[in-house]
Amino acid sequence: MFAFTLEKTVGNARAGRMQTAHGEALTPMFMPVGTQATVKALDTQDVLGARPQVILANTYHLYLRPGAELISRFGGVHGFMGYDKPLLTDSGGFQVFSLGEQMERKGPTDLPRTKISENGVEFFSYLDGSKHFFTPEKSIEIQRHLGADIIMAFDECLPDAADEPTARASVDRTHRWAQRCVTWWAEHDRQSVDLSTPGATGHYQALFGIIQGSQHRHLRELAAQQILSLPFDGIALGGETIGYNMPKTVEIMDWLRDVLPTDKPRYAMGLGRDPQNVIDAVQAGYDMFDCVAPTRLARNGALYFGRLNTTKSTWTWDSPYNKGRLQIGNHEFAEDHAPIQLDCDCYTCQQGYSRAYLHHLYRTQELTYYRLASIHNVRTMVRLTEELRQVILAE
Ligand SMILES: [Zn+2]
Repeated sequence: MFAFTLEKTVGNARAGRMQTAHGEALTPMFMPVGTQATVKALDTQDVLGARPQVILANTYHLYLRPGAELISRFGGVHGFMGYDKPLLTDSGGFQVFSLGEQMERKGPTDLPRTKISENGVEFFSYLDGSKHFFTPEKSIEIQRHLGADIIMAFDECLPDAADEPTARASVDRTHRWAQRCVTWWAEHDRQSVDLSTPGATGHYQALFGIIQGSQHRHLRELAAQQILSLPFDGIALGGETIGYNMPKTVEIMDWLRDVLPTDKPRYAMGLGRDPQNVIDAVQAGYDMFDCVAPTRLARNGALYFGRLNTTKSTWTWDSPYNKGRLQIGNHEFAEDHAPIQLDCDCYTCQQGYSRAYLHHLYRTQELTYYRLASIHNVRTMVRLTEELRQVILAE
């Protein structure tokens, strides 16, 4: 089953624990993103070594390749990647919209557009241009094949700058899609215990609803009421704005603070590029975060360096480096004997790999660099949420 217990609140910051089909997960938590059923450059043992509470896989990518039904025959994403701890899949909505738009901008000019209708979304694969159609029911069915412990309702991800009429129509449609997700989920044995049913996972899949509404206060509030009227296990905040435009993200969180129930987990989708973003969102009352940035930044030579400071009422990520990360390709590290961060408990720093060695691997584009750098950045974000949890529990 799924359960969430709020353990302690300090200001708006919360510490809690959730029970999933694959065990307990503590909040606040940063969830590394395993887009293609792998956190880029890391194998499953590396992921376990970073000690995340939950990891995320992308429905859209796995549906297109290798296919959700194939993964189902391996016991879902858990069996496919040999990971026996809590997993979350997104609905595919974000990629359907964002990759569809990218193809319109970069792809051949005769490429058909992503088409939204009441029934769902017609889109074209970024891999081969083939045509596909996602409905709310289809998204849940695919996620059932993938078998994650937490699955997401199919929504329309609104751009940062969506105008009011566009956003209003979209919020209402996302509400109707959310109702259809709930209906399909309830009618198709949401506990998925009947293994004779195609796609059945043998365990309960918690379903989260997503609040959209772009930057319009009344629409965010309306969307929250709509999502809260349905029996979701958790509540997510979605849209391009979240995690991308941090001042607005925190403002939206403030608008909804008194609207959201305290007994359900709150998930800010796509938030977690910088440690400070996670700190700000925790202080705004959110519990779960995910972002591809830690591994992407690592591959681009940006390694997190800093420490959580909770001595003032506004908690901060203190670092001598710009944006809280050092650029390992810089000449200053060419003969630096120190690990990335001396008091970091990640595998890379604990093994004593020097900045000079990582600088060399980065400059020569050696594959080992991507692994060692990604391990450090992922563990740093996971550890940050562990430290935030300790601070909340200790107050
Ligand atoms: Zn480290």
